[in-house]
Amino acid sequence: MKIAFIEPEYKHEGYTCNQKFLDAYTDKKKHAGLYNNANLGLLTLAAQVPTDWEIQYIHTPIEKIDYNEQFDIVALGGMTRQANEIYRIIDKFKTQGVYTVMGGIHATVCHEEAASHAHTVIVGEGEDSFPRFLEDFSSGAPKSCYGPSNEIDLMSSPLPRYDLITGDFQNYPVQTTRGCPRNCKFCAATRIYGKSYRHKTSEQVVQEIQMINSVRRNPFILFVDDNMFIHKAFSRELLQKLIPLDIRFQALSDISIGEDQELLELMYKAGCKELFIGLESPTSHDIAYVQHNGWKANQTKHYSQLIRNIQDHGIRIYGSFILGFDNHTQDHIARIKEFVWENKILGQFSILTPFPGTEFYDEFKQKGRLREDKSWYHYNLYDCVIHHPNFSARELEDAIIEIFEFTFSDENYARVVRRQIEGVKNMEYKKKRV
Ligand code: SF4
Repeated sequence: MKIAFIEPEYKHEGYTCNQKFLDAYTDKKKHAGLYNNANLGLLTLAAQVPTDWEIQYIHTPIEKIDYNEQFDIVALGGMTRQANEIYRIIDKFKTQGVYTVMGGIHATVCHEEAASHAHTVIVGEGEDSFPRFLEDFSSGAPKSCYGPSNEIDLMSSPLPRYDLITGDFQNYPVQTTRGCPRNCKFCAATRIYGKSYRHKTSEQVVQEIQMINSVRRNPFILFVDDNMFIHKAFSRELLQKLIPLDIRFQALSDISIGEDQELLELMYKAGCKELFIGLESPTSHDIAYVQHNGWKANQTKHYSQLIRNIQDHGIRIYGSFILGFDNHTQDHIARIKEFVWENKILGQFSILTPFPGTEFYDEFKQKGRLREDKSWYHYNLYDCVIHHPNFSARELEDAIIEIFEFTFSDENYARVVRRQIEGVKNMEYKKKRV
Protein backbone atom coordinates (compact mmCIF):
# COMPACT_ATOMS: atom_id res chain seq x y z
CA MET A 1 0.00 0.00 0.00
CA LYS A 2 1.11 3.53 -0.66
CA ILE A 3 -0.18 6.53 1.30
CA ALA A 4 0.54 10.26 0.96
CA PHE A 5 0.07 12.82 3.71
CA ILE A 6 -0.35 16.23 2.14
CA GLU A 7 -0.05 19.64 3.79
CA PRO A 8 -1.89 22.10 1.52
CA GLU A 9 -0.70 25.53 0.56
CA TYR A 10 -2.20 28.78 1.90
CA LYS A 11 -2.83 30.21 -1.49
CA HIS A 12 -5.33 32.38 -3.26
CA GLU A 13 -5.54 34.31 -6.46
CA GLY A 14 -6.09 38.07 -6.55
CA TYR A 15 -5.50 40.76 -3.94
CA THR A 16 -5.82 39.89 -0.31
CA CYS A 17 -4.49 41.60 2.74
CA ASN A 18 -3.04 38.24 3.74
CA GLN A 19 -1.03 38.04 0.50
CA LYS A 20 0.24 41.59 0.93
CA PHE A 21 1.28 40.72 4.45
CA LEU A 22 3.00 37.52 3.38
CA ASP A 23 4.85 39.25 0.55
CA ALA A 24 6.03 41.98 2.89
CA TYR A 25 7.13 39.90 5.84
CA THR A 26 7.89 36.31 5.06
CA ASP A 27 11.41 36.89 3.81
CA LYS A 28 12.42 39.33 6.49
CA LYS A 29 14.59 37.80 9.18
CA LYS A 30 12.50 39.50 11.83
CA HIS A 31 9.50 37.47 10.86
CA ALA A 32 11.25 34.47 9.37
CA GLY A 33 9.61 31.12 9.24
CA LEU A 34 6.02 32.21 9.12
CA TYR A 35 3.96 29.19 8.09
CA ASN A 36 7.23 27.39 7.52
CA ASN A 37 6.86 24.27 9.55
CA ALA A 38 5.54 20.80 9.03
CA ASN A 39 2.02 19.63 9.92
CA LEU A 40 2.32 17.87 13.25
CA GLY A 41 -1.13 16.26 13.02
CA LEU A 42 -0.23 14.53 9.76
CA LEU A 43 3.18 13.43 11.07
CA THR A 44 1.46 11.94 14.13
CA LEU A 45 -1.05 10.01 12.00
CA ALA A 46 1.78 8.84 9.75
CA ALA A 47 3.31 7.15 12.80
CA GLN A 48 0.33 4.79 12.88
CA VAL A 49 0.67 3.51 9.34
CA PRO A 50 1.78 -0.15 9.18
CA THR A 51 5.51 -0.43 8.68
CA ASP A 52 5.23 -2.32 5.40
CA TRP A 53 3.31 0.54 3.75
CA GLU A 54 5.09 3.16 1.66
CA ILE A 55 4.61 6.71 3.03
CA GLN A 56 5.20 10.14 1.53
CA TYR A 57 4.83 13.44 3.34
CA ILE A 58 4.31 16.32 0.92
CA HIS A 59 4.42 19.91 2.18
CA THR A 60 2.94 21.74 -0.81
CA PRO A 61 4.07 25.23 0.12
CA ILE A 62 7.52 23.98 -0.93
CA GLU A 63 6.97 20.65 -2.69
CA LYS A 64 4.82 19.80 -5.69
CA ILE A 65 2.19 17.07 -5.82
CA ASP A 66 2.59 14.52 -8.57
CA TYR A 67 -1.00 13.59 -9.43
CA ASN A 68 0.22 10.76 -11.63
CA GLU A 69 1.75 8.92 -8.71
CA GLN A 70 -0.18 5.75 -7.84
CA PHE A 71 -1.25 6.36 -4.24
CA ASP A 72 -3.82 4.09 -2.62
CA ILE A 73 -4.76 6.79 -0.09
CA VAL A 74 -4.12 10.50 0.22
CA ALA A 75 -4.72 12.05 3.63
CA LEU A 76 -5.02 15.80 4.11
CA GLY A 77 -5.58 18.02 7.08
CA GLY A 78 -5.39 21.66 7.87
CA MET A 79 -6.96 24.79 9.15
CA THR A 80 -9.96 26.66 7.84
CA ARG A 81 -7.90 28.92 5.58
CA GLN A 82 -6.57 25.80 3.84
CA ALA A 83 -9.98 24.18 3.36
CA ASN A 84 -10.63 25.31 -0.23
CA GLU A 85 -7.20 24.14 -1.30
CA ILE A 86 -7.71 20.81 0.48
CA TYR A 87 -10.99 20.30 -1.39
CA ARG A 88 -9.33 21.17 -4.72
CA ILE A 89 -6.60 18.58 -4.14
CA ILE A 90 -9.06 15.94 -2.92
CA ASP A 91 -11.39 16.47 -5.89
CA LYS A 92 -8.47 16.10 -8.28
CA PHE A 93 -7.25 12.86 -6.68
CA LYS A 94 -10.80 11.48 -6.71
CA THR A 95 -10.95 11.84 -10.48
CA GLN A 96 -7.80 9.66 -10.59
CA GLY A 97 -9.55 7.00 -8.52
CA VAL A 98 -7.48 7.61 -5.37
CA TYR A 99 -9.11 7.15 -1.96
CA THR A 100 -9.16 10.42 0.02
CA VAL A 101 -9.24 11.15 3.75
CA MET A 102 -9.59 14.49 5.48
CA GLY A 103 -8.99 15.34 9.14
CA GLY A 104 -7.86 18.29 11.21
CA ILE A 105 -9.59 21.31 12.70
CA HIS A 106 -11.69 22.30 9.70
CA ALA A 107 -12.89 18.76 9.02
CA THR A 108 -13.83 18.51 12.69
CA VAL A 109 -15.95 21.65 12.82
CA CYS A 110 -17.42 21.39 9.29
CA HIS A 111 -17.55 17.64 8.82
CA GLU A 112 -20.60 17.57 6.56
CA GLU A 113 -18.93 19.97 4.17
CA ALA A 114 -15.70 17.92 4.31
CA ALA A 115 -17.69 14.74 3.65
CA SER A 116 -19.03 16.22 0.43
CA HIS A 117 -15.44 16.03 -0.88
CA ALA A 118 -13.43 13.36 0.96
CA HIS A 119 -14.35 9.66 0.97
CA THR A 120 -13.63 9.53 4.70
CA VAL A 121 -13.62 12.28 7.30
CA ILE A 122 -11.82 11.98 10.63
CA VAL A 123 -13.59 14.11 13.24
CA GLY A 124 -11.70 15.21 16.34
CA GLU A 125 -8.41 13.82 17.53
CA GLY A 126 -7.15 11.19 15.11
CA GLU A 127 -4.93 8.95 17.24
CA ASP A 128 -7.76 6.50 18.00
CA SER A 129 -9.76 6.66 14.81
CA PHE A 130 -7.08 6.76 12.12
CA PRO A 131 -5.76 3.24 12.87
CA ARG A 132 -9.37 1.97 12.78
CA PHE A 133 -9.79 3.57 9.38
CA LEU A 134 -6.57 1.96 8.12
CA GLU A 135 -7.74 -1.46 9.29
CA ASP A 136 -11.16 -1.01 7.66
CA PHE A 137 -9.55 0.23 4.45
CA SER A 138 -7.27 -2.79 4.35
CA SER A 139 -10.22 -5.10 4.75
CA GLY A 140 -12.14 -3.26 2.03
CA ALA A 141 -14.80 -1.57 4.19
CA PRO A 142 -13.76 1.95 5.18
CA LYS A 143 -16.48 4.09 6.76
CA SER A 144 -17.32 7.60 5.63
CA CYS A 145 -16.79 9.09 9.09
CA TYR A 146 -14.73 8.25 12.16
CA GLY A 147 -14.94 9.99 15.51
CA PRO A 148 -15.21 12.07 17.45
CA SER A 149 -13.51 9.80 19.90
CA ASN A 150 -13.25 10.45 23.61
CA GLU A 151 -10.39 12.69 24.64
CA ILE A 152 -7.34 10.63 23.87
CA ASP A 153 -4.66 9.86 26.39
CA LEU A 154 -1.73 11.92 25.14
CA MET A 155 0.67 9.65 26.95
CA SER A 156 -0.14 6.98 24.39
CA SER A 157 0.17 9.32 21.40
CA PRO A 158 2.81 7.98 18.99
CA LEU A 159 6.15 9.60 18.23
CA PRO A 160 5.50 11.83 15.19
CA ARG A 161 7.35 10.81 12.03
CA TYR A 162 9.71 13.79 11.84
CA ASP A 163 11.96 11.62 9.71
CA LEU A 164 9.49 11.94 6.81
CA ILE A 165 10.15 15.67 6.49
CA THR A 166 12.23 16.41 3.45
CA GLY A 167 11.88 20.22 3.22
CA ASP A 168 14.45 22.50 4.78
CA PHE A 169 12.42 23.85 7.69
CA GLN A 170 13.78 26.20 10.33
CA ASN A 171 11.06 25.41 12.86
CA TYR A 172 9.94 22.04 14.13
CA PRO A 173 6.58 21.69 15.88
CA VAL A 174 6.25 19.73 19.11
CA GLN A 175 3.10 19.39 21.17
CA THR A 176 3.27 18.61 24.87
CA THR A 177 -0.29 19.36 26.04
CA ARG A 178 -3.83 19.68 24.67
CA GLY A 179 -6.75 21.70 25.95
CA CYS A 180 -7.16 25.08 27.56
CA PRO A 181 -9.37 25.97 30.51
CA ARG A 182 -9.79 29.66 29.53
CA ASN A 183 -12.53 29.14 26.93
CA CYS A 184 -12.27 32.38 24.92
CA LYS A 185 -15.21 32.90 22.58
CA PHE A 186 -13.06 33.45 19.48
CA CYS A 187 -10.90 30.36 19.98
CA ALA A 188 -11.74 26.76 19.14
CA ALA A 189 -9.17 25.21 21.50
CA THR A 190 -11.55 24.49 24.33
CA ARG A 191 -14.36 23.27 22.06
CA ILE A 192 -12.10 20.95 20.08
CA TYR A 193 -9.85 19.58 22.79
CA GLY A 194 -12.16 20.06 25.78
CA LYS A 195 -11.56 21.88 29.04
CA SER A 196 -9.58 19.08 30.57
CA TYR A 197 -5.90 19.71 30.21
CA ARG A 198 -3.85 16.70 29.12
CA HIS A 199 -0.14 16.27 28.69
CA LYS A 200 2.40 13.82 27.32
CA THR A 201 5.11 12.48 29.58
CA SER A 202 8.30 14.51 29.78
CA GLU A 203 10.16 11.43 28.45
CA GLN A 204 7.94 11.42 25.34
CA VAL A 205 8.71 15.07 24.67
CA VAL A 206 12.44 14.52 25.13
CA GLN A 207 12.29 11.59 22.73
CA GLU A 208 10.50 13.76 20.14
CA ILE A 209 13.14 16.45 20.39
CA GLN A 210 15.91 13.89 20.12
CA MET A 211 14.29 12.59 16.95
CA ILE A 212 14.13 16.13 15.53
CA ASN A 213 17.79 16.61 16.43
CA SER A 214 18.59 13.46 14.49
CA VAL A 215 17.05 14.87 11.29
CA ARG A 216 18.00 18.56 11.59
CA ARG A 217 21.05 20.27 13.06
CA ASN A 218 20.29 23.01 15.55
CA PRO A 219 16.51 23.18 14.95
CA PHE A 220 14.29 25.86 16.44
CA ILE A 221 11.51 24.13 18.36
CA LEU A 222 7.99 25.53 18.21
CA PHE A 223 5.92 24.23 21.08
CA VAL A 224 2.50 24.46 19.48
CA ASP A 225 0.39 23.80 22.58
CA ASP A 226 -2.40 26.37 22.80
CA ASN A 227 -1.45 27.27 26.36
CA MET A 228 1.64 25.37 27.47
CA PHE A 229 2.35 26.10 31.14
CA ILE A 230 -1.04 25.55 32.81
CA HIS A 231 0.03 22.40 34.65
CA LYS A 232 2.80 23.81 36.85
CA ALA A 233 4.27 20.57 38.18
CA PHE A 234 4.49 19.03 34.72
CA SER A 235 5.97 22.25 33.31
CA ARG A 236 8.71 22.25 35.94
CA GLU A 237 9.53 18.61 35.31
CA LEU A 238 9.58 19.07 31.54
CA LEU A 239 11.69 22.24 31.57
CA GLN A 240 14.26 20.58 33.81
CA LYS A 241 14.53 17.74 31.32
CA LEU A 242 14.91 20.15 28.42
CA ILE A 243 17.90 21.97 29.92
CA PRO A 244 20.53 19.35 28.95
CA LEU A 245 19.16 19.17 25.39
CA ASP A 246 20.51 22.65 24.67
CA ILE A 247 17.67 23.72 22.37
CA ARG A 248 16.10 27.05 21.41
CA PHE A 249 12.35 27.33 21.46
CA GLN A 250 9.20 29.43 21.27
CA ALA A 251 6.07 28.54 23.26
CA LEU A 252 2.50 29.80 23.58
CA SER A 253 1.18 30.85 26.95
CA ASP A 254 -1.29 33.15 28.58
CA ILE A 255 0.08 36.16 30.45
CA SER A 256 -0.16 34.54 33.88
CA ILE A 257 3.21 32.93 33.21
CA GLY A 258 4.67 36.37 34.06
CA GLU A 259 3.84 35.77 37.74
CA ASP A 260 5.84 32.59 38.04
CA GLN A 261 9.44 33.42 38.81
CA GLU A 262 10.54 29.81 39.15
CA LEU A 263 9.09 28.70 35.82
CA LEU A 264 10.52 31.74 34.04
CA GLU A 265 13.99 30.93 35.33
CA LEU A 266 13.64 27.34 34.18
CA MET A 267 12.36 28.50 30.81
CA TYR A 268 15.40 30.69 30.30
CA LYS A 269 17.72 27.85 31.23
CA ALA A 270 15.83 25.44 28.95
CA GLY A 271 16.29 27.72 25.91
CA CYS A 272 13.06 29.72 25.67
CA LYS A 273 13.74 32.66 23.37
CA GLU A 274 10.23 33.89 22.75
CA LEU A 275 6.76 33.61 24.23
CA PHE A 276 3.70 34.04 22.06
CA ILE A 277 1.02 35.47 24.33
CA GLY A 278 -2.63 36.17 23.52
CA LEU A 279 -2.90 39.70 24.90
CA GLU A 280 -5.79 40.51 22.53
CA SER A 281 -5.95 44.21 23.46
CA PRO A 282 -4.16 46.74 25.66
CA THR A 283 -7.45 47.70 27.31
CA SER A 284 -9.92 45.69 29.33
CA HIS A 285 -13.26 47.12 28.22
CA ASP A 286 -13.04 45.74 24.69
CA ILE A 287 -11.98 42.22 25.67
CA ALA A 288 -14.47 41.92 28.49
CA TYR A 289 -16.81 40.00 26.24
CA VAL A 290 -14.36 37.50 24.81
CA GLN A 291 -14.73 35.25 27.83
CA HIS A 292 -17.69 34.53 30.03
CA ASN A 293 -15.65 34.75 33.22
CA GLY A 294 -13.72 37.91 32.23
CA TRP A 295 -10.36 36.38 33.17
CA LYS A 296 -8.47 38.02 30.33
CA ALA A 297 -10.02 41.43 30.90
CA ASN A 298 -8.89 41.30 34.51
CA GLN A 299 -5.33 40.69 33.46
CA THR A 300 -4.91 43.80 31.33
CA LYS A 301 -4.08 46.10 34.25
CA HIS A 302 -1.08 43.87 35.01
CA TYR A 303 0.13 43.48 31.41
CA SER A 304 3.09 45.87 31.54
CA GLN A 305 4.38 44.55 34.86
CA LEU A 306 4.07 40.90 33.77
CA ILE A 307 5.70 41.63 30.41
CA ARG A 308 8.64 43.32 32.18
CA ASN A 309 9.02 40.32 34.42
CA ILE A 310 9.16 37.93 31.47
CA GLN A 311 11.61 40.18 29.62
CA ASP A 312 13.85 40.32 32.70
CA HIS A 313 14.31 36.59 32.11
CA GLY A 314 15.79 37.12 28.66
CA ILE A 315 12.59 36.07 26.88
CA ARG A 316 11.08 38.28 24.23
CA ILE A 317 7.34 38.72 23.84
CA TYR A 318 5.36 38.16 20.71
CA GLY A 319 1.94 39.50 21.67
CA SER A 320 -1.17 38.54 19.78
CA PHE A 321 -3.71 41.36 19.30
CA ILE A 322 -7.13 41.47 17.72
CA LEU A 323 -8.49 44.50 15.91
CA GLY A 324 -12.21 44.65 15.16
CA PHE A 325 -14.13 44.30 18.39
CA ASP A 326 -17.34 46.27 18.01
CA ASN A 327 -16.21 49.24 20.08
CA HIS A 328 -12.94 49.68 18.19
CA THR A 329 -12.38 52.97 16.41
CA GLN A 330 -9.34 54.65 14.83
CA ASP A 331 -8.11 55.47 18.36
CA HIS A 332 -7.55 51.81 19.04
CA ILE A 333 -4.95 51.56 16.26
CA ALA A 334 -2.87 54.25 17.93
CA ARG A 335 -3.34 52.59 21.32
CA ILE A 336 -1.96 49.26 20.07
CA LYS A 337 1.07 50.97 18.52
CA GLU A 338 1.70 52.88 21.72
CA PHE A 339 1.49 49.66 23.75
CA VAL A 340 3.92 47.85 21.46
CA TRP A 341 6.41 50.74 21.64
CA GLU A 342 6.16 51.27 25.40
CA ASN A 343 6.46 47.56 26.21
CA LYS A 344 9.15 46.76 23.62
CA ILE A 345 7.43 43.79 22.09
CA LEU A 346 6.76 42.25 18.68
CA GLY A 347 3.38 40.91 17.75
CA GLN A 348 0.83 39.33 15.55
CA PHE A 349 -2.07 41.62 14.74
CA SER A 350 -5.18 40.12 13.30
CA ILE A 351 -8.65 41.16 12.34
CA LEU A 352 -11.38 39.65 14.47
CA THR A 353 -12.15 36.41 12.63
CA PRO A 354 -15.04 34.24 13.77
CA PHE A 355 -13.72 30.79 12.92
CA PRO A 356 -16.23 27.99 12.47
CA GLY A 357 -16.41 25.95 15.65
CA THR A 358 -16.23 29.02 17.90
CA GLU A 359 -18.92 30.85 19.80
CA PHE A 360 -18.15 34.01 17.82
CA TYR A 361 -18.91 32.21 14.57
CA ASP A 362 -22.38 31.21 15.75
CA GLU A 363 -23.02 34.75 17.00
CA PHE A 364 -21.81 36.51 13.84
CA LYS A 365 -23.61 34.08 11.55
CA GLN A 366 -26.88 34.48 13.39
CA LYS A 367 -26.65 38.28 13.17
CA GLY A 368 -25.79 38.19 9.44
CA ARG A 369 -22.42 39.81 10.11
CA LEU A 370 -20.23 37.42 8.12
CA ARG A 371 -19.30 38.71 4.67
CA GLU A 372 -20.84 36.39 2.13
CA ASP A 373 -18.31 37.16 -0.58
CA LYS A 374 -15.53 35.53 1.42
CA SER A 375 -14.36 31.95 1.03
CA TRP A 376 -12.61 29.92 3.73
CA TYR A 377 -9.30 31.07 2.34
CA HIS A 378 -10.06 34.53 3.72
CA TYR A 379 -10.34 33.15 7.24
CA ASN A 380 -6.63 33.77 7.63
CA LEU A 381 -6.73 36.52 10.29
CA TYR A 382 -5.59 39.28 7.91
CA ASP A 383 -8.48 39.46 5.45
CA CYS A 384 -11.63 40.99 6.85
CA VAL A 385 -14.57 38.55 6.83
CA ILE A 386 -16.93 40.54 9.07
CA HIS A 387 -19.13 43.61 8.85
CA HIS A 388 -17.88 46.11 11.43
CA PRO A 389 -19.88 49.08 12.75
CA ASN A 390 -17.00 51.60 12.61
CA PHE A 391 -14.62 50.36 9.91
CA SER A 392 -14.92 49.27 6.30
CA ALA A 393 -13.20 45.97 5.52
CA ARG A 394 -10.41 47.76 3.65
CA GLU A 395 -9.85 50.14 6.56
CA LEU A 396 -9.36 47.22 8.94
CA GLU A 397 -7.00 45.48 6.53
CA ASP A 398 -4.98 48.65 6.01
CA ALA A 399 -4.84 49.20 9.77
CA ILE A 400 -3.35 45.74 10.25
CA ILE A 401 -0.62 46.44 7.70
CA GLU A 402 0.04 49.82 9.35
CA ILE A 403 0.48 48.23 12.79
CA PHE A 404 2.70 45.48 11.39
CA GLU A 405 4.89 48.01 9.60
CA PHE A 406 5.24 49.99 12.78
CA THR A 407 6.00 46.95 14.94
CA PHE A 408 8.58 45.50 12.56
CA SER A 409 10.17 48.87 11.80
CA ASP A 410 13.92 48.97 12.43
CA GLU A 411 13.37 51.36 15.36
CA ASN A 412 10.93 49.16 17.23
CA TYR A 413 12.78 45.96 16.39
CA ALA A 414 16.02 47.43 17.78
CA ARG A 415 14.24 48.30 21.05
CA VAL A 416 12.96 44.73 21.32
CA VAL A 417 16.41 43.26 20.73
CA ARG A 418 18.05 45.64 23.23
CA ARG A 419 15.44 44.73 25.84
CA GLN A 420 16.09 41.03 25.31
CA ILE A 421 19.84 41.52 25.64
CA GLU A 422 19.26 43.36 28.93
CA GLY A 423 17.21 40.40 30.16
CA VAL A 424 19.85 37.88 29.10
CA LYS A 425 22.57 39.89 30.89
CA ASN A 426 20.39 39.98 33.97
CA MET A 427 19.99 36.19 33.92
CA GLU A 428 23.69 35.54 33.28
CA TYR A 429 24.61 37.88 36.14
CA LYS A 430 22.21 35.99 38.43
CA LYS A 431 23.73 32.66 37.37
CA LYS A 432 27.24 33.85 38.29
CA ARG A 433 26.06 34.93 41.72
CA VAL A 434 24.54 31.52 42.50
S1 SF4 B 1 -7.24 32.09 23.15
FE1 SF4 B 1 -5.63 31.15 24.39
S2 SF4 B 1 -6.37 31.39 26.50
FE2 SF4 B 1 -8.17 31.64 25.16
S3 SF4 B 1 -9.08 29.58 24.95
FE3 SF4 B 1 -7.68 29.84 23.22
S4 SF4 B 1 -5.76 28.95 23.92
FE4 SF4 B 1 -7.01 29.33 25.76
